[in-house]
Amino acid sequence: MSVTPMMAQYLDIKAEAPNALLFYRMGDFYELFFDDAVAASAALDIALTKRGQHLGQDIAMCGVPVHSAENYLMTLIRKGFRVAVAEQLEAPEEAKKRGSKSVVKRGIVRLVTPGTLTEDTLLDARAHNYLAAWCDVRGEGALAWADISTGAFHVSACPRVRLGPDLSRLVVREIVLTDESDVADIASELGVAVTPLGRSAFDSASAEVRLKTLFDVASLDAFGTFTRADLGAMGALVEYIELTQRGKLPLMRPPRPEASGELMAIDAATRRSLELTRGTSGGRDGSLLWAIDRTVTAGGGRLLERRVSAPSTVEGVIRSRLDAVDWACANDRLANDIRTALRRAPDMDRALSRLSLDRGGPRDLAAIRDGLMAGQSLFSCLSETDLPLDLVDLVGQEALTALLDAALVAEPPLMLRDGGFVASGHDADLDEARQLRDQGRGVIAALQKTYADRTGIASLKVKHNNVLGYFIETTATHVDKMRADDIFIHRQTTANQVRFTTVELSELETKILNAGGRAQEIEVRIFAGLRDAVLSASNAIFAAARVLAELDVTAALADLARGENWCRPKVDSTRAFTIDTGRHPVVERALKAQGAPFVANDTRLDATDGAAIRLLTGPNMAGKSTWLRQNALIAVLAQMGSFVPAEAAHIGIVSQLFSRVGASDDLARGRSTFMVEMVETAAILNQADDRSFVILDEIGRGTATYDGLSIAWATLEHLHDVNRCRALFATHYHEMTALSAKLAGVENATVAVREWDGDVIFLHEVRDGAADRSYGVQVAKLAGLPEAVVARARAVLNALEEGEREGGTKPKAMIDDLPLFSATPVPAPRPQKESAAETRLRDVFPDELTPREALDLLYELKRLT
Ligand code: ADP
Repeated sequence: MSVTPMMAQYLDIKAEAPNALLFYRMGDFYELFFDDAVAASAALDIALTKRGQHLGQDIAMCGVPVHSAENYLMTLIRKGFRVAVAEQLEAPEEAKKRGSKSVVKRGIVRLVTPGTLTEDTLLDARAHNYLAAWCDVRGEGALAWADISTGAFHVSACPRVRLGPDLSRLVVREIVLTDESDVADIASELGVAVTPLGRSAFDSASAEVRLKTLFDVASLDAFGTFTRADLGAMGALVEYIELTQRGKLPLMRPPRPEASGELMAIDAATRRSLELTRGTSGGRDGSLLWAIDRTVTAGGGRLLERRVSAPSTVEGVIRSRLDAVDWACANDRLANDIRTALRRAPDMDRALSRLSLDRGGPRDLAAIRDGLMAGQSLFSCLSETDLPLDLVDLVGQEALTALLDAALVAEPPLMLRDGGFVASGHDADLDEARQLRDQGRGVIAALQKTYADRTGIASLKVKHNNVLGYFIETTATHVDKMRADDIFIHRQTTANQVRFTTVELSELETKILNAGGRAQEIEVRIFAGLRDAVLSASNAIFAAARVLAELDVTAALADLARGENWCRPKVDSTRAFTIDTGRHPVVERALKAQGAPFVANDTRLDATDGAAIRLLTGPNMAGKSTWLRQNALIAVLAQMGSFVPAEAAHIGIVSQLFSRVGASDDLARGRSTFMVEMVETAAILNQADDRSFVILDEIGRGTATYDGLSIAWATLEHLHDVNRCRALFATHYHEMTALSAKLAGVENATVAVREWDGDVIFLHEVRDGAADRSYGVQVAKLAGLPEAVVARARAVLNALEEGEREGGTKPKAMIDDLPLFSATPVPAPRPQKESAAETRLRDVFPDELTPREALDLLYELKRLT
């Protein structure tokens, strides 16, 4: 059976992108065929149809209109697909010239994957969209990552054990691995799309050549020293970007080697548990980032997210960031001016990236103009001040700014094809062409009057449409008058109208078209020139954007510190951890919304000598987790260079942060909750050192009491004796409070509650000492457990405690001895006489009622009571 020429072309192209859905351009639609169509129609919820046959089988087909393709693309990418976009590479007339059976040339122009997006509509403006590659050369690993929408490009040593933590720190969307790599599971578990590439893409020698060409340097030494694994990872990354962009490389900043020791290490489980950048719902809401983000630009938002995800461990870096925030707090009027100016500054990073990929339009040029201008005016109002930030990158592009300013109208259209973006007075040829075009339009408008006078038909109109161009229109009643005058040439008769043209009108039209076409050509040429000018200044523009982001983050953190009454933390190389009246920024904000006060608490860990651990006991709901986390969050805030929610804070630099919560349900990953808890605890015990800060919340809760207690006990001893770290350990095993007498670095603390008339009142105050009891029964009562159950639980508890005091008796025996019924039986409900309304209701079946009947019934019941 023969294959149609079009199908043959389709199959050829499809073979180039076997792992992607192929969007095959046909006129105004992208069509999908075969399995692609089945998958896409299900994912997009669009109709699946058929188109002809292939090898005797119906061909499944679905399609999306080109003008709304971006929305469909976004849905597919979100659902984990890759999409190859095949465009028509010539006009259909060209194909016809080759013969009637010829198919229009098509080819893939772009492979859209989760890690290689550039469109604003597909991206979150305030978050990076990272693509990464990981390479391993004889046990030495490296991770390279880039955001092609902003040109950011980094590389860092990354041994296998750090891959998970690094991927989750950066929120990588897609990772390129060798096809035989065995780390794919680590990535997929974190929701990162995995793309396999042949081993040769990771070859360090060819990578070096590729990178030198890309950055146009003779040696990479200027950027730093790179290991073979570094080079392999960067090379594969660049190769994959070339592959997806079909050879059109986006602008990339030279790679920045990142020393892993300079950042606080935070693994994926800790990030999840502390909700640093994502809340429990997976979005930003409820996260630390959500609570503190007051940035006003997209670039500032992205920088803040980077800082929250990767706090520094370098004293000097932290100090200079804090100095800047301090300055902005002290100069609040200037800081407000900065924010006002920045609100108008567009996203230069992303505009630049789109321009470099030939996906940019006039509005992207305007974004560069407005961004640079904002930078220059900020420079002139700040350079004389003592703001401790280097602002020099904001200036130096005045000539480019002036060029863009002279060339562009104030608010240009999004697309190049819309035209009209070059300001008048910028190019004489363009002005002339536009004048001809516009004059022509004026002359045509005047013709209407001439023809109306000539024919005596007052209602005669000159109109324009895309099929006929310009034409003269009259109602059908005047057709004879028109036909009598031989300058009018008949074009078309519709139901009520008759349309004519004249030689004069056609000639004018041609002139207008020519002038319009010429104007368009000139604009396209000017656009290309401006784009080249912008791209050749790309490094300077990136640098200016970076300073704007820095200013934004600084002013935003100062606004937060002033508004929320935060203090500057003291951060140094000691092992102190002292906080006066600390608060939890997210819980405090949530409580504030409900009008409830937050109780501030101190934290004092004395770690001058060995470990410093606080063992926290107290009833459920007392505020244990809140206090644990607020301390971890304060460490993150301090080291990212922010003020902190406290009256005073002194933090010795934390190199690794760990947070674990016992037995959270993780059924989605198919592991038992207890297993997860133990795997995560093991990671801490194996990795934490004396510069680590650890919070453990109810470890051991996921198993039987004695097992759990033993595990928690041994874990605490290990943290104290081996890890020697600073830690906060919350538990409901009161037995563990005895450890404070045995271990020098362990002290007890408790969250105070007051008992009142059989109920508990939570004071949320952390105090020295151990909790006397757990108040579980009272908490259950507060939660609304039926009174009978609460009473019964009290009786069981009393019996158990009694037995414990007398010593020896096994719980089983004690429970056997319990009276069978609650000590204070709750009376059974007394049978009552049924009311008239109740009798009526017994025969009512709500599902069978119409709304009208329901309303009538309501009135009836009302009457009965
Ligand atoms: P636990 O871990 O002891 O079970 P949580 O830390 O989860 O308790 O706190 C329970 C609730 O108590 C929180 O959701 C919060 O509303 C409130 N809470 C906790 N700490 C405080 C505090 N310091 N001030 C005011 N309310 C608090």
